[in-house]
Amino acid sequence: MDYQAILEEIATEIKPYIGQGKVADYIPALAEVDAQQFGMALTLFDGTQYSVGVADTPFSIQSISKVFTFTLALDAYGFELYKRVGREPSGNPFNSLVQLEYEQGVPRNPFINAGAINVTDALISHFGSPAKASKEILAFIRMIADNGTIESDKEVTESEMLHGYRNRALANLMKSFGNLDNDILDVVQTYFEHCAIVMNAQSLSRAMLYLANHGTDPISQQQFITPQQAKRINAVMLTCGHYDASGDFAFHVGLPGKSGVGGGIVAVIPKTMGVCVWSPALNAQGNSLAGTKALELFTNKTGISIF
Ligand code: GLU
Repeated sequence: MDYQAILEEIATEIKPYIGQGKVADYIPALAEVDAQQFGMALTLFDGTQYSVGVADTPFSIQSISKVFTFTLALDAYGFELYKRVGREPSGNPFNSLVQLEYEQGVPRNPFINAGAINVTDALISHFGSPAKASKEILAFIRMIADNGTIESDKEVTESEMLHGYRNRALANLMKSFGNLDNDILDVVQTYFEHCAIVMNAQSLSRAMLYLANHGTDPISQQQFITPQQAKRINAVMLTCGHYDASGDFAFHVGLPGKSGVGGGIVAVIPKTMGVCVWSPALNAQGNSLAGTKALELFTNKTGISIF
């Protein structure tokens, strides 16, 4: 298949959608990003990469990092992890407090904010300190992306520390139900640090390969998680990866995927490739509007989806 030609067709057809929607402005450091950008990349199992647009421009990965922390926590805790966080779609906005109150401080899944904050707490307990957890998360991401230069942006973390009242509220609520072990400020700071990691679409498409290949990196042959765990992460990405638009994403795109409010979306094509698209303006549910459309065009044009 001529992937380069397909990506170029998508870049042309997507033009009217670029900039539609709204850049996340509840994190002031992200509000300054130019909405008129689009990049898309894919990486095959032998490392061959195809890309179009600004696929080498770094952006804030935000909630895409939740896929990587979920992976590390599953590796550390196995099935025990599901005592503190569920695996059902929430049908609610990513930062909702209401459901968490009803469900006694146990978040629905690891991809809504409460769930990801809880997973970060589990990683702090596992690695022994917030600093060690941040270091291990970054080291894992560098390894799966095969890129030792990846860093977290301090300005974005600080911006979230100054404005993240709702995330602090989620952490407080879980703590009040006894479902958070560590100090609330340490937990949210560590969570913000991994959300603030900066990567480009090329590196992120490379980083998805272990999930397309049953938990083992097809290039380095390193196994990060078991095939069963990889299957489950993909299943949770499919059902919960786009917050209250997860059903819509499965309907239109038909791939396990995870979005972030930085405008990135990663997707997994089992046994074939990792994909990433980036365009900063978001739809009402906080997912990249042009990015979602581009992935829909990709699965339609290639005829590849999991269905
Ligand atoms: N750091 C963001 C928050 O907690 C992540 C949200 C997202 O990417 O969806 O609000």
